[in-house]
Amino acid sequence: MKITFSYARGAGKCSFCPTPITVGEPVVVGRTPVSAGGKNFYSKRRWHPQCYLDQGLRYLELHPFTPEAKGRPRLPTLPIGDKLRRLSILRRHATTLQRIRAELRKPKPNFDTLARLGERVELLRTEISTYGGAPKSWQPKPESPNTLIEVVTDDISCQLEMSEV
Ligand SMILES: [Zn+2]
Repeated sequence: MKITFSYARGAGKCSFCPTPITVGEPVVVGRTPVSAGGKNFYSKRRWHPQCYLDQGLRYLELHPFTPEAKGRPRLPTLPIGDKLRRLSILRRHATTLQRIRAELRKPKPNFDTLARLGERVELLRTEISTYGGAPKSWQPKPESPNTLIEVVTDDISCQLEMSEV
């Protein structure tokens, strides 16, 4: 809505109070663009300047200030046992990724080991779904589809195909 202050050119009703608006009186005019039947026009509302303020303040009264929650979003509350199991899965996942990276850095990576580690990552993904779901960082990033895991699994499948030949 576009708000302007002007003098009433015609008499009319106030959008907030029952007192009529008289010609020449200061008014707040609100114009909202409306499209209907293929035509664009403005829906117009008028207020006494004080009424415009009162309406805004009343709105704020009805919608009290609520400070936004800070920090990272909280997990759905899990029983303590589940929390520990989740933590254990997160740790095993991190360790497994570390081992995959270490294996890949070797001059001759062992592809059996990589396949086994890749399977374990998949297993942990399934396992964590019962304990609050996989964290965001486990999701493949949309802008860079070649996350480590995908690169790893690609390498493994390449190697598997080659060894089958
Ligand atoms: Zn009014």
